[in-house]
Amino acid sequence: MMRYQLFINGKFVDSSSGKFFNVINPSTEETISECPEGTVEDTRKAIDAAYESQKKWAKLPAIERAKYLRKIADGIRKNAEMLATTIVEEQGKIRSLARVEVDFTADYIDYMAEWARRLEGEIIPSDRPNENILLYRMPIGVVAGILPWNFPFFLIARKMAPALITGNAVVIKPSSDTPNNAFEFAKIVAHTDLPAGIFNLVSGKGSVVGNELASNPKIGMVSFTGSVETGSKIMELASKNITKVSLELGGKAPAIVMDDADIDLAVKAIKDSRVINTGQVCNCAERVYVHEKIADEFIEKMTKAMKETTYGDPLREEVEMGPLINANALKSVDGMVKRAIEQGAKMVTGGRAEDRKKGFFYKPTVLTDCKQDMEIIHKEIFGPVLPIVKFKNLDEAIEMANDSEYGLTSSIYTQNIDVAMRAANEIKFGETYINRENFEAMQGFHAGWRKSGIGGDDGKHGVEEFTNTHVVYLQYNQNKK
Ligand code: NAD
Repeated sequence: MMRYQLFINGKFVDSSSGKFFNVINPSTEETISECPEGTVEDTRKAIDAAYESQKKWAKLPAIERAKYLRKIADGIRKNAEMLATTIVEEQGKIRSLARVEVDFTADYIDYMAEWARRLEGEIIPSDRPNENILLYRMPIGVVAGILPWNFPFFLIARKMAPALITGNAVVIKPSSDTPNNAFEFAKIVAHTDLPAGIFNLVSGKGSVVGNELASNPKIGMVSFTGSVETGSKIMELASKNITKVSLELGGKAPAIVMDDADIDLAVKAIKDSRVINTGQVCNCAERVYVHEKIADEFIEKMTKAMKETTYGDPLREEVEMGPLINANALKSVDGMVKRAIEQGAKMVTGGRAEDRKKGFFYKPTVLTDCKQDMEIIHKEIFGPVLPIVKFKNLDEAIEMANDSEYGLTSSIYTQNIDVAMRAANEIKFGETYINRENFEAMQGFHAGWRKSGIGGDDGKHGVEEFTNTHVVYLQYNQNKK
């Protein structure tokens, strides 16, 4: 069994607590590693190291910083199979998806390296004579990256790569469900000549390591991905020092299927989106609104597709879906389905996977006869459960889609450009997919409205999140010869 160490100031070190926590394989419920229980002292050491080394790092030309990022991306590619296996074992996603996550992460880091020569400031016309106004994009300093467990490897890069290319140093805290891949990431970093202190990794409790990262005055920005509840806590902690926060939180993506939709395409896209990563994706279809005229055909085809979805141990079997992340997730998904049935929903397929003795498995589930006021239509399920609501016309569908405290992603299936354009303009979400489902592109901008978050990731706007502006007013004397 693996036993890992923290990565602070370029060295692997034990935690000052001397304690470890166990990481469980969600398919087998076996313990697969022991990870260090980081303390406030460990976290402060990592922050101090990042704070000191960032000063020199920021002075390097961005193209020099890019070279280090490319070395990390190369290291990831060389270790891709091992990294994918690590992710499958601790997170439970199927191997092919884990491999996509690893490959995409390497590509993402390379993409961010390309910003070295592209990130631009601005020259703004002044109201005064003989003056230039120059707007620079400057590093913020030390960025804390606090991660969830669902795309644990990619999310390291989504925080680390734009932070480093813009001249910041990072301290990353992985989820305690999935820290192993982060330690493997740190080993790859350690094999490059990245200066010590630029990338640090501290595992441990959210209430200890996470709290310190969110409230330490040397942190310039907290980039957090996770639940609304924790995001709100982090915002509260960061408010003490007016620390910038970027919060990527939950979602409750509506998928609207119009009566002119290509039904087979809609069924396939929505089903794939609902079972990928066992439904544990912030932007996968969490509720479907289907036009009453085509509802029967859609439900029949969707039920068949969900019923036929194969699931099992993602390490040992060729399956489309693995387990949920842990026992709490299984309890939560099961509880939501039971309450939906009590409130009048009909389960046409699915439910708890009683046939599996070990592992946190839940069968792909379809719930029909759902109504807009049910909990299952408003609360994030984060499991392979698809609640379906019927609608009469587009106005009603858009109104129900927008009726959510979340505002991350959404989708609509139609072959009518007028309908697509109206939806694109009236759906109040950060992203809308037309005739497809997730995922988002690295050159796009992934950002939620309402309780889905503040700030965003990817593309030009995502890179700019990791910078402070600095405006210089340059007055000159035009009479000087
Ligand atoms: P979580 O909020 O429970 O935990 C996320 C991280 O926060 C963990 O590392 C945890 O240890 C840490 N944490 C907990 N308490 C803390 C505290 N008091 N201070 C600081 N840090 C603390 O989320 P999760 O269950 O790991 O992830 C699932 C959630 O993430 C879902 O809601 C999902 O929608 C969301 N998510 C969003 C996106 C996006 O891009 N919007 C992407 C992936 C996941």
